[in-house]
Amino acid sequence: MSVRVRFAPSPTGPLHMGGVRTALYNYLFARKHKGSFLLRIEDTDRKRFVKGAEDYIMDSLRWCGIEWDEGPDRDGGMGPFRQSERMKIYREYANILIGKGYAYYAFDTPEELTEMRTRLKTDKNPNPQYDIHTRVQMQNSLSLSGEEVKKRLDSGQDYVIRIRIPENEEIIVDDIIRGRVSVESRLLDDKVLFKSDGMPTYHLANVVDDHLMDITHVIRGEEWLPSAPLHVLLYRCLGWTDSMPRFAHLPLLLKPDGQGKLSKRDGDRLGFPVFPLEWKDTQSGEIIRGYRESGYFPEAFVNIIALLGWNPGTEQELFSLEELTELFSLDRVGKAGARFDPEKARWFNHQYLVRKPIKEVALLFKDFLAEKGISQPEERLGRICSLVRDRVSFVHELWEESYFFFQAPSSYDEKFARKKWKDDTPALMTALAEKLAKTGTLETESIENAMNEIMQESGAGAGRIMPPLRLALVGAAHGPDVKEIMKILGRDETVERIKRAIESISSGRTE
Ligand code: GLU
Repeated sequence: MSVRVRFAPSPTGPLHMGGVRTALYNYLFARKHKGSFLLRIEDTDRKRFVKGAEDYIMDSLRWCGIEWDEGPDRDGGMGPFRQSERMKIYREYANILIGKGYAYYAFDTPEELTEMRTRLKTDKNPNPQYDIHTRVQMQNSLSLSGEEVKKRLDSGQDYVIRIRIPENEEIIVDDIIRGRVSVESRLLDDKVLFKSDGMPTYHLANVVDDHLMDITHVIRGEEWLPSAPLHVLLYRCLGWTDSMPRFAHLPLLLKPDGQGKLSKRDGDRLGFPVFPLEWKDTQSGEIIRGYRESGYFPEAFVNIIALLGWNPGTEQELFSLEELTELFSLDRVGKAGARFDPEKARWFNHQYLVRKPIKEVALLFKDFLAEKGISQPEERLGRICSLVRDRVSFVHELWEESYFFFQAPSSYDEKFARKKWKDDTPALMTALAEKLAKTGTLETESIENAMNEIMQESGAGAGRIMPPLRLALVGAAHGPDVKEIMKILGRDETVERIKRAIESISSGRTE
């Protein structure tokens, strides 16, 4: 049977990077095994439904290059892929479970449930459950007479449908990552399968859909491991054990210090994104930046999350989506939580930035400059980017390292000027400007010739020429190699900047 996996997010808000990782691992697993990857929207919890979240999920996956084969927008014959459009199906299976005695109606009001929990609460049992022991004391079709149940149903009284957990059974979850987990059935509670609003709960809908959609492997976050025994039991009750999917629960993503689950608040606190794309909170109007808006390349983001839980078993750290597809295997997904390191994330983006074709970087930088109203030929931008990209991790950071190529200094670093602009500097700079003005285009050789001549004529060393020259061209002590700056600025602009510096700094005007 060919592999079929699914990513089944609930549209309750923006997709966390942990969710994208779950989608990615499912996608890689499907591609590796030449199977299918499905996107199913689990939107049965209407109270937590957030408008726009479904589009956000799809846009995020598309941005990452994680394409699904079947989903709400492409039904391969096993849809619909939005659970809210499959309501009839779930009701049918809830009825089957009741018919077989595996589920029952429960009429308890919220007050009655609270009353039971308070009444039975003890130090030893702080959270009394609706289960084998307590169900007999409650208002349900196991404790009430058939007649009474019929009366209540006919009168339209609110009810839920609960699973009837068997008393003494061993439930085994065979997890590809975690191995065999065995649970005694009496420890489970009679979870609600169908709610009073006519909606199934996640548990019922999830199992029914995985079965009807021929899912072979359920790859999802560790937070669902406690629900797995209930799901195994549901497969058993529905007679689907033979075609039950295999489970793989992925490790948690941990905070940078390794203490606890990575949350949105950590991102705010430590200044890194936790969402792939920008998200505007529908209620508060708050805008949260995503990886995309923070300047991450999608390839880098995918590479970052791929390694949060999986490792290739080699020293290799950079992987394209194609390489990941080839190498990925659930055997190499660890059990231990994966610590997220924001510094390492920046490092990944840097690696992609320095490896990108320079033309591409130039075009991205061109867009960035356009927003500042600066327009430049691509060829010149390419030269600038080649010169400074080693120093940065993001396209927007190129500006910090290259702004002086687009605007002549309007002031000069005072401290640096005091230290490096000596009494004889104006004469040296004037002589250099005159020599440069007589050369053709500035090349390494012509620049070096001009400097050597000045040094010979004046007896001054390079240390007396280069720093003031940098100050004249950049206005500050930083920047790449001075000769490279001169080559890009060109002869006329270089000469012009030297002259302007002589005038301003010598007359004491560094502002
Ligand atoms: N709807 C669940 C979620 O939001 C899906 C869990 C699963 O994959 O079974 O994570």
